[in-house]
Order: sequence, then structure tokens, then C-alpha cells
Amino acid sequence: MQQPDDWLDRDDGSAPNCAIEGGASAPVPVEGIRGTLTCEAPLDKFVWFKSGGKADWLFEPADIEDLKFFCEHLDGSMPIMALGVGSNMIIRDGGVPGIVIKLGKPFMDIEITGDTTLQAGSAAPVSIVSRRAAKAGIDGLAFFTGIPGSVGGVTRMNGGCYGRETCDVLTECDVILPDGQFVTLSNSDLQYSYRHSALPDGAIVVAARFEGFLGDPDTIKAEMDRISSERKDSQPIGSRTGGSTFKNPPGHSSWKLIDDAGLRGFKHGGAQVSEKHCNFLINTGDATSTEIEELGEIVREKVYANSGIQLEWEIKRVGRP
Ligand SMILES: Cc1cc2nc3c(=O)[nH]c(=O)nc-3n(C[C@H](O)[C@H](O)[C@H](O)COP(=O)(O)OP(=O)(O)OC[C@H]3O[C@@H](n4cnc5c(N)ncnc54)[C@H](O)[C@@H]3O)c2cc1C
Repeated sequence: MQQPDDWLDRDDGSAPNCAIEGGASAPVPVEGIRGTLTCEAPLDKFVWFKSGGKADWLFEPADIEDLKFFCEHLDGSMPIMALGVGSNMIIRDGGVPGIVIKLGKPFMDIEITGDTTLQAGSAAPVSIVSRRAAKAGIDGLAFFTGIPGSVGGVTRMNGGCYGRETCDVLTECDVILPDGQFVTLSNSDLQYSYRHSALPDGAIVVAARFEGFLGDPDTIKAEMDRISSERKDSQPIGSRTGGSTFKNPPGHSSWKLIDDAGLRGFKHGGAQVSEKHCNFLINTGDATSTEIEELGEIVREKVYANSGIQLEWEIKRVGRP
């Protein structure tokens, strides 16, 4: 059994605000947990925007069994949210209530399972999944090289680019439901649409299986290099950003609507509409999440005034204002 002092991990070394006598206020019994449970854990370091508040609790499970144990004992008493690599997320400044689950190394395995199939842990970056697929001569996953998210993130968001989406290659995924149940969901269970899946709230994807088609490794690699270099030229990849801010409305490109509204480079506090790609918002240094989200709302208002089109957020905004 781990004692509270061992498992409550505060990076500033100060005493936690929450009562931890005997783990009494911990959300689940301490006995049996093998992962790391952190009270009031800063989340800004986990998201691309590098802004936002703390999680009431952050749980980093040791493996699937540990996550299952944790959820079973939690038994729906607190909200649960999975965090991938935070490349499509604003964590609000007031922090996230309940439990944030962050999957790490134990969930990063990638295994080639057949001539055209592979399985990946949900913390694996999809860019690495695409590289492994290419090396094995599995075509169809090259587009993943342009997306900086994790397998879990693209599975929920139906991440895609260059005319392909996760739903074109995902066959099924393994999930731990908030009550600890392990289920396998098929592609059709997920009812994919543009940047959306029907994955239940609080469900944690732990692994996914993909199918492509036979291809030549060198040709696939050349396609991936092309995608990477196009991305470097057209997106603010080295910046504190959250990817595409708004979904493209049918028949329109969000960046063009934003540009036409005169907002390229527009600033609000420490947040700015990217000069390079208008559908990207940037934290120029010390922006709060409030400023970033307010900038997004200003953009929505001005685009609506200019074009009559309502932009819909693609970025997930979570937590207390
Ligand atoms: C420079 C840049 C370029 C980008 N380009 C693209 C692009 O071309 N196409 C595209 O689609 N996206 C793009 N994105 C956005 C982003 O990479 C994708 O949306 C990606 O799917 C998010 O993955 P993530 O791991 O960062 O998820 P997060 O941002 O951490 O989370 C996003 C959502 O997924 C959920 N989630 C994460 N992990 C899990 C899990 N294990 N189980 C259940 N739910 C989970 C979260 O709860 C949240 O709801 C870009 C982002 C950046 C910063």
C-alpha cells in the first residue's frame, strides 16, 4: 500500500489544500492504486496553449487494470475527463472539477498485427503511429503525420486532414467506462461525423486498432514528408496554440471567414489570431485561458457580423471560468 505522502505528488513541495489524513478525502481508497494520484495538479504544462488552472485530482494510471480499479471504486461519484496531449483544448483558469485522467508510457505501445493492421495504445502520438505504419508498408495512415494529437484524442475527435479522417482507418477501440467497465467499441458504435464521435462522456479510450492497405514504404514516406513540409509552411506549429479553433462550416473555410472579417493578427490581451493561419489562436506569452476564449468569442461575433455565419468551436473548452 502506498502512503499518502508517497502518492500525493505536489511539484512545489507545499502541503496540499485538501485534507489527506489517511487518504480520507481521496476520491477512492488509497489501497490498491498503483498509479499516481495528484491533488490540485497544474494542467497548463500538459496543454499546447500552456495556460489554465488545476485539476482537482489528476490520475495517471499504471496500466489498464489500475485504471479499471480506480473507476470501479470511484463509482460515478465525481466527473472524469481524459486528457491527451492537449493539442485541441482550452483548460479554463478556474481548473477542472473532479478527476482528469492522463495516460502515459504504459499506454504507448504500437504493434503491427497484420499485413495492413496495427494496434496502438491511446497515449501514442498519431504521428508515430503513421511512421510505424509506413515502415511496415501499411498505407492510408500517412495523414496522421499532420496531426499532433494522441490516439485517444483522434479517436474522440475524429481527427483528420488532407481528405482523410480517423473514421476511415479506425476499426475498433478499447474503452474503460466511468464505472470501470471494459468495452470494445466498433467504428460504427462511434457514429463518427466531422470532428465528432459518440464516445460517451467520461469514457477513456485505452487502445485503438487501425486498418490501412498495402503500400510501398518509400512512397508513403514521401507523402508524409510532403504533408509535414506543407504544415510547417501553413501552420504556427512552434507556437502555443490549440490547432483549428473552429470547425469549417459546410461550404466554407473558417480561416477565410476570419480573414475576410479583418481579424488576421487581431490581439486581445496576450492572445492573438495567428498571422500565419487565421483559424489558429496563439498564446503570445502570458495569455490567460480567459483571454484566449474571449478572443475566440470576439472572432465568432465579428465573423457573424461580417458574413452571417456562426462559427462553431472545434477546440474543447473545459473547466470552471
Ligand atoms: C499545430 C496543430 C495542428 C493541428 N492539426 C490538426 C489537423 O490537421 N486535423 C485535426 O483533426 N486536428 C488537428 N489539430 C488538433 C488536435 O491535434 C486533434 O484534435 C487531436 O485529435 C487532439 O488530440 P489530443 O491528444 O491533443 O487531445 P486533447 O486535446 O488532449 O483532447 C481533445 C479531446 O479528446 C479527448 N480525449 C483525449 N484523450 C482521450 C482518451 N484517451 N479517451 C477519451 N477521450 C480522450 C479529451 O477529453 C478532449 O475531449 C491540430 C492541433 C495543433 C496544435
